[in-house]
Amino acid sequence: MNKQDAIRHTSSCADATEPGLLSVEQAEQHIFDLIQPLHCAERVDIRRALGRTLADDVRSTINVPPHVNSAMDGYAIRAVDIPADGTTQLTIAGSALAGTPFTGSVKTGQCIRIMTGAKLPDGCDTVIMQEQAEVEDERIRIDANHRVGENVRQAGEDLSLGQTAIPAGKCLQASDLGLLASIGMGEVSVTRSLRVAFFSTGDELRSVGSQLAESEIYDSNRYSLHGMLQRQDAELIDMGVIADNPDDMKAAFADAAQVADVIITTGGVSVGDADYVKAIVAELGKVNFWKLAIKPGRPMAFGTLGDALFFGLPGNPVAVMVTFYQFVQPALRYLLGQKELRPFRFQVASASPIRKRPGRTEYQRGRLDSAADGRLQVSLTGAQGSGILRSMSAANCFIVLAADQGSVEPGDPVTVEPFHGLL
Ligand code: AMP
Ligand code: MG
Repeated sequence: MNKQDAIRHTSSCADATEPGLLSVEQAEQHIFDLIQPLHCAERVDIRRALGRTLADDVRSTINVPPHVNSAMDGYAIRAVDIPADGTTQLTIAGSALAGTPFTGSVKTGQCIRIMTGAKLPDGCDTVIMQEQAEVEDERIRIDANHRVGENVRQAGEDLSLGQTAIPAGKCLQASDLGLLASIGMGEVSVTRSLRVAFFSTGDELRSVGSQLAESEIYDSNRYSLHGMLQRQDAELIDMGVIADNPDDMKAAFADAAQVADVIITTGGVSVGDADYVKAIVAELGKVNFWKLAIKPGRPMAFGTLGDALFFGLPGNPVAVMVTFYQFVQPALRYLLGQKELRPFRFQVASASPIRKRPGRTEYQRGRLDSAADGRLQVSLTGAQGSGILRSMSAANCFIVLAADQGSVEPGDPVTVEPFHGLL
């Protein structure tokens, strides 16, 4: 589907439950249909590659580990010397340390003192843990309870020569930096960072640091957005607060479209008298205004302004965060060429009753913790209004209630999407 078709298509789509409402799945599909992943890579030092997207498959040019080596401190032996029953004695004929191999050859009846990571001496194929060997002068005594090849790490058992170490599109995590180093790569090719411009719209908004006059509020959305965007591979272009005034807005959109891959605004996409975003971006670009079958976050705009993608998020602070995580974050990942677009979800028992009417997908704010019996459970974090950021701040997960789902009783399983991972 080309861009224009995608836009035409989106405006005619409706959800079966309520005319004119777009389901989450339909909205996501339209977003992905319109996006082309960036194909622009740069090489960076691996220490600067955390959170960046791998541009090409990385293949190993060596075996890791490069040589057969010991997994334990102990004694390298030939398996033929393991007694069938009873015990046997072997003579210690030398030693092998990590980085300092034993260079001679080992004859039957002999063993080599060996440390973890040391190359296995020629002729040896098995390592006896030192705790399982009795040392007597220059000899050890071992029993029959050993298996051929025990405590030995094979060459290439982590990565073999030519094997794909990390596939293209992976968002690099700490272990990947180590894995790249383990094959001797000090630099890696990653997709260039996105440029994301964002601003808040609203006459009532003041930035932190200024005094509030009557009927004004502080702009919180731009700061939550700042935080959410800092977790993406993006250069941030913070354009401040733009008043509900067509000229200022037009200028801001034109400036943003010049510099950004993605433009994100909050507020002004509803049907109020001061909601100018709609008229202006419709004039400057190709944009659809969606009524989504979700709660919170019903109104949202999506399209293109010049070469930039545009997301017009709702004004309410929780709705901003929900629509960002559900639609913008997967889109940014897709643009970067990533394959894992969404956070993982799983089911746990709800400790709270949750009221819900079928019809819309709801993203309630929850807190995962362990019940007295040690099992994971989730509870609501308090009032769930779309303007109540406190319940978002107290949360560590979304509770995702499907469109067709009704109310939840305590103990019922619910789907959660955790905010934090290990990496
Ligand atoms: P709007 O969609 O512009 O009508 O905004 C919906 C609600 O969200 C109104 O109560 C706004 O005052 C509030 N709101 C809009 N933008 C922000 C913002 N940047 N920070 C805090 N609240 C906002
Ligand atoms: Mg507004």
